[in-house]
Amino acid sequence: MYLVRKGIIAILFLVLLLTGYRPAGQCQSIATAPAVVPGVSYTLATWRSSRVRNIIYQLGFHLPATPTAAVEVEEQLSFDLSDNTAPLQIDFRKKGAGPDTLLVNGMPIPADYQQEHLLIPTKVLHTGANIIGLHFSAVDLPLNRNSDFLYTLLVPDRARTLFPCFDQPDCKAIFQLTLTLPADWKAMANAPLKEATGNGSEQTLHFLPSDRISTYLFAFVAGRFTDTAASAGEYPMHFFYRETDSAKLRLSIRPVFQIQTDALAFLQHYTKIPYPFQKFSCAAIPDFQFGGMEHPGAIQYKASSLFLDPGATRDQLIARSNLLSHETAHMWFGDLVTMSWFNDVWMKEVFANFMADKISNITLPDNKYDLKFLTDHYTAAYSVDRTEGAHPIRQQLDNLQDAGSLYGNIIYHKAPIMMRQLELLMGADAFRDGLRDYLKQYAGGNASWPELIRILGAHTTTDLNAWNKVWVNESGRPRFTYQCKTSGGKITELMIHQQGEDGSARVWPQFFTIALVYRDHIEHLPVNMNTAGIRLEKAVGKEAPLGFLFNSGGEGYGLFPVDKFLLHSLPAIKSPLMRASTYINLYENMLDGQGISPMQLLALDRAMLSMEPEELNLNILTDQISSLYWRFIPSAKRDSLSVSLEKEIWKTMYAVRSPNEKKVLFKTFSSIVRTKKGQDSLYRIWKTQEPPAGVQLSEDDYTALAATLALRAYPGEKQLLDEQLARIKNKDRRDRLIYLLPALSNDEGERDRFFETLRTPEGRKKESWVLTALGYLHHPLRTGYSEKYLPQTLALLEEVQRTGDVFFPQSWLAASLGWYRTKSAAAIVRDFLQQHPDYNPKLKAKLLQAADNLFRAANLTK
Ligand SMILES: [Zn+2]
Repeated sequence: MYLVRKGIIAILFLVLLLTGYRPAGQCQSIATAPAVVPGVSYTLATWRSSRVRNIIYQLGFHLPATPTAAVEVEEQLSFDLSDNTAPLQIDFRKKGAGPDTLLVNGMPIPADYQQEHLLIPTKVLHTGANIIGLHFSAVDLPLNRNSDFLYTLLVPDRARTLFPCFDQPDCKAIFQLTLTLPADWKAMANAPLKEATGNGSEQTLHFLPSDRISTYLFAFVAGRFTDTAASAGEYPMHFFYRETDSAKLRLSIRPVFQIQTDALAFLQHYTKIPYPFQKFSCAAIPDFQFGGMEHPGAIQYKASSLFLDPGATRDQLIARSNLLSHETAHMWFGDLVTMSWFNDVWMKEVFANFMADKISNITLPDNKYDLKFLTDHYTAAYSVDRTEGAHPIRQQLDNLQDAGSLYGNIIYHKAPIMMRQLELLMGADAFRDGLRDYLKQYAGGNASWPELIRILGAHTTTDLNAWNKVWVNESGRPRFTYQCKTSGGKITELMIHQQGEDGSARVWPQFFTIALVYRDHIEHLPVNMNTAGIRLEKAVGKEAPLGFLFNSGGEGYGLFPVDKFLLHSLPAIKSPLMRASTYINLYENMLDGQGISPMQLLALDRAMLSMEPEELNLNILTDQISSLYWRFIPSAKRDSLSVSLEKEIWKTMYAVRSPNEKKVLFKTFSSIVRTKKGQDSLYRIWKTQEPPAGVQLSEDDYTALAATLALRAYPGEKQLLDEQLARIKNKDRRDRLIYLLPALSNDEGERDRFFETLRTPEGRKKESWVLTALGYLHHPLRTGYSEKYLPQTLALLEEVQRTGDVFFPQSWLAASLGWYRTKSAAAIVRDFLQQHPDYNPKLKAKLLQAADNLFRAANLTK
C-alpha cells in the first residue's frame, strides 16, 4: 500500500528501547492458552499460527443497491486444528447484528462473544478438520459504501471487522467468494469469475477459489464501473474506473496498462519467479484513502493519481509510474512472501518502493534515477527522522490493532535509502541473488526481517548484524563535520566525522561522494564512511578546492555540512543532482539553525528559481519557497515580500519553456498569492477559464483556484464557489465540493459548525475529503482564528485512530498542525503532552513529528 507521495510522518523512539525484538514468525509453541483481549495480540497470533492450518473461507455477501440497507453475510470457515485443548478465539470486531448461533462441526451453539472474539469451546472442536458456519450483518466501515459503489479495504486488521477470521498475516487462506448484487453492477475480486447467475434486478457472481493469501489482502470492488480490458503482455488485465473526463481517459488508460505490464516484466526478470497469482486487475476508486492497495487480482488505486490531464507535471507522471510499479511489486514482495507479523510491514513497503524506483527508471527513461531517488525519498525521510518523534524502521508490535501506527515516512522513505545503502554494500548482483533466494525459499508463505538478513548475509562478507542495528533497529540520522588542512595550495589532510544528531557516538556505515569544487572543474571522491571518523587519503595532495560539496551523488544519509561558497556558486554547478543535494542540505541546515537563516535561504531559492532548468529541482525550490514563506519568515517581513515574490514567480512562469514547469510555478503563485493584483489575475483566469499562455488547467485546478480565492475572502466568493459547483458535471467531484463548502466559508460560525461535525466518526468517514477540509480550516491565513480548534483536534486523535484508516491519524495531524508557527500553538501541543503523560506512545510520536515544523518555526522566528 502506499500513501500519496511525500505523505507525512510516522512514529516513535521512546517505547522502542530496542529490548523486545522478537523473532516474529518463529512460531514458538506456547503451552498456556492466550488471554482473551481486544485486538489480535502477538501471543494469540503465535498460538494460532502453530495450531491452525488449511484455512478456507467461503463468503457470500448480499450487496443491496441502497447504501443504507444491511449487507447480509453467509460464512463457512474450514480449517485443520492440531490442538483442541483450549477454546479457539476467532477474531470478530462485531458491530452489526448476529451471529446469535454458530454451527460448529454440525452442532448449533450460542455465540460466545468476548473482547472482539468469538470463543469456540473445546467440546465442539475436533483435532483435524473443523467447519464453522455463521450468518450475520456486516459493518459498513470496512465496506466503504457509496451511493452506487463500494469496496473493501481490510489492511491491516479490518478483515476481523468485516467477518470472523484468523486475522493475522501468517494465517494465509483460500477465499471462495460469492456476491449477490444489483444486475447493473460490476465486481472484481482476488480470483477470476467462475460464473454469473441472475434473476431480474439481481445477479449472483461466483468467483473461483483464490490463491492462498493473508486476510488483509482479501478484497472486492463492486458497483457502477466502466470495465476496460487489455491483452497487453502475458496477462489479460481488467481496469475498473468511474472517471468521465474524456481527456483524462484518453491520456491515462494506456499508460496504466503499459506501466503495469512493464513492471510485471521487470519483476519476473528480477525475481526469476513468474507472476504468482491467477489474475491481474485493478480498479480506480474515487477519493480512495491511500495511493493504492495491493490486493492480488484486485489492486485498488486512488483515481486521481491515475487519471492525469494534459497539464500533468513531471512530478505527477513520476508519482503515477511509481505508484503503479509499487503495487505491482507487492505481488512478489508482500503478497507472495508476506511478513510473519505486522512489525515487519516495512519490509514489503521498502521492497515495493525500492523496486518501483528501478521500474520507473525503465517506464520513464531519462537517466535520472539518482535524482528521482533523492527528490523522492530524502526530504520525506528527514521530515520524520529529524523530529522528536523519530522511530526505527523496525518497531515492536504487541497487538495488531496498533499496526496502523507503524506506517509513515520512515518505512516508505528512509527504508529505501537504507536498502540502497545495503545494495551498495553488497553489490547489486549479490543483493539481487539474495532476494531471489529469499523469495524462492518463502514463496507462498511468511518470513521476517531476521530471516532475510540471514539469507543476505550469506551473499556478503560484511557483518550485516552490526549494520542492521543502527540502520534498522534505531532511529535518527548522523551529523557530519569535516576539517581540511592545506599547505602551499594543496590538501594535506581531510578528516570527516560522524556522530548521531542527538549527540550519541553512533556510526551509520555508508557510502557517499564528496565533490571538490574548483573554478573550472569538479572532482568527485568516493567516501566509505564505515567508522566515526576517517582520513580521506585520496584527497591528500590535491589542489585546495574553492569548497566541498557533500553528498554530491545523493546516496548518503544525514545532516551534511554546507560550505558557504556554495551560496554564490550554485548556478555554476552543472549537475542537477548536485544542486538538488545542495538545496536539500541547505534546507536541513536552515532548520537546524546552522549557517543559513530562513531569509537567506529564501533569497537563494528565489535567485535560483529562474536559473534552475531541471523540473524536479524546481519542485524542491518551490516547495521550499512556500514553506519558508508561510512558516519561517517573520510575519512582518512576509507582507513586504509578497509584491516582489509574486511578481518574480509570475515572470518566471512566462520565462520557462516546459508546460510542466509553468504549471508548477502557477501552482506556487496560487499558493502564496496575497496581493489584490495577484488575486485579480487569478480571478480573471478562473472566470474566463483562460489560463496564462502555455499553462494547462483542468477542472480540478479550477476548483482549487476557486478555493484559493475563497480562502482569501475574494469579493463575491460565495457566488464564485456556487458557479464552480455548477461547472462540475462528474458526480463524485460535485459531492466532494459540496462537502468542502462550509470549510471554505468565510462565515466563522459556519466553519465552527463544520468543525463540530468532525467530532463524530460519521463526520470523518470520507477521509480524503476531511483532510482537504482541514487544510482549508487551518490555512495559514486562518491560523489566528483556527488555533482554537487545536485542543479539540488533539483530544480527538485517539478516536481518529480507532475509527480511521491507517494513514489517517498522521494525516489528520499534518493537515491540522502543518502551517502553525506561533509560540501559543506550540504551547497547546506541549501542554497536551504534559497533561497526558501516559499517552499512547506511537500517537505521541506522530504528534511530535507533525509538530516539528511548528516547534522549529516558533524558535526560528522568535
Ligand atoms: Zn505498499
